[in-house]
Amino acid sequence: MTRIAVVGAGVAGLGVAYALRETDAEVTVFERRESVGGRAATRRRDDCVYDVGANYCKDDDERVTGLLAGELADGLVETEGPVWTFDADGEISEGRGDDAPKWTYREGLAALGDRLREASGATVRTGTEVAALARESAATGSESDGWRVETDSGDELAADGLVLTPPAPTTAYLLDRADWNDPLRGDLVDAAADVPYRTLLSVALHYPYRADLPYYALVNADKDHDLGWVSREECKPGHVPGGESLLVVQPSPEWSRNRYDDADDEIAVAAADRVAELLDDPDRYQFDWADVVRWRDALPDSGADRATLDRGADADLFFAGDWVVGEGRVHAALRSGLETGERIAETL
Ligand SMILES: Cc1cc2nc3c(=O)[nH]c(=O)nc-3n(C[C@H](O)[C@H](O)[C@H](O)COP(=O)(O)OP(=O)(O)OC[C@H]3O[C@@H](n4cnc5c(N)ncnc54)[C@H](O)[C@@H]3O)c2cc1C
Repeated sequence: MTRIAVVGAGVAGLGVAYALRETDAEVTVFERRESVGGRAATRRRDDCVYDVGANYCKDDDERVTGLLAGELADGLVETEGPVWTFDADGEISEGRGDDAPKWTYREGLAALGDRLREASGATVRTGTEVAALARESAATGSESDGWRVETDSGDELAADGLVLTPPAPTTAYLLDRADWNDPLRGDLVDAAADVPYRTLLSVALHYPYRADLPYYALVNADKDHDLGWVSREECKPGHVPGGESLLVVQPSPEWSRNRYDDADDEIAVAAADRVAELLDDPDRYQFDWADVVRWRDALPDSGADRATLDRGADADLFFAGDWVVGEGRVHAALRSGLETGERIAETL
């Protein structure tokens, strides 16, 4: 039996496990958070469900679409309403010709992680951070070539193959400290460390009333406004009770970076002020509760050098995630995981 260790239970890591579900491989996925899904993240408060990382998964990949609409379809819902745009002056314009389906789940997009976890049949150890990695080599006295994965609680797992799926800066950090004496290690660290990231705040603002508006979301088209994105969670079936409204606001990367260390209530008030101005709606200044989520490594701005990453296979080391394919999107991360899993399956 081949043992595969996967670090990270975002959609990429779980995609790897899913692709290996019908092989003989014994797959263990390590996830430092208590829940799976990674940046496809959902929170709950009172009777509201809201997606605080990715807002939805698009149908830009035929294969992922087939999977979502097929085996992972339980609870899948389509977001209702179009995305409109606004510019630096706060001028709102109708539509951007993007009416493709935007999927989430009735329980929130994190359910995609739960569905993948179930369908994969893999062992998923949540609340378990991988703290150290070591390469074991038959040439230096180990029983066989492979990897030793050490967790924050001091547990160890021996694996024949290792897949790293955390965001590139964390992957670079893990590899940089790995006990692995090979020049390839440095090349892989550099490849991951070179990927530039955007930092984003995600601010949920709840209001005890609902306004009738013609769009699901507003996106800043010229990337020159303090806000990048404002969406209405009530457009997702099952997310917000009738008569209430929950806005998910993603300020621009610059605004997010500048206010990253501010207190939650300061961030929420400042975001609500900008929303009230944008929507020209004084009622929006006064939310009744808010929730702030910080994503330091929110979105990769480009991909890592694939040729370098592919050389990892010589040492039974593989990579998956949005930063591997250079597209900060749920469907791209899942596709990356499926393809990496299939690549490993070919070697079994
Ligand atoms: C605010 C925001 C809005 C977005 N909006 C959209 C959108 O609308 N549509 C869209 O398609 N995409 C969107 N995205 C991007 C999308 O969320 C990501 O591209 C995708 O979820 C990445 O999945 P992944 O599996 O590659 O990485 P992740 O989801 O980051 O998974 C990596 C996992 O590794 C875990 N991990 C890290 N280090 C360790 C360790 N040492 N040990 C164990 N576990 C570890 C992490 O906790 C995490 O769960 C958005 C992202 C953000 C942050």
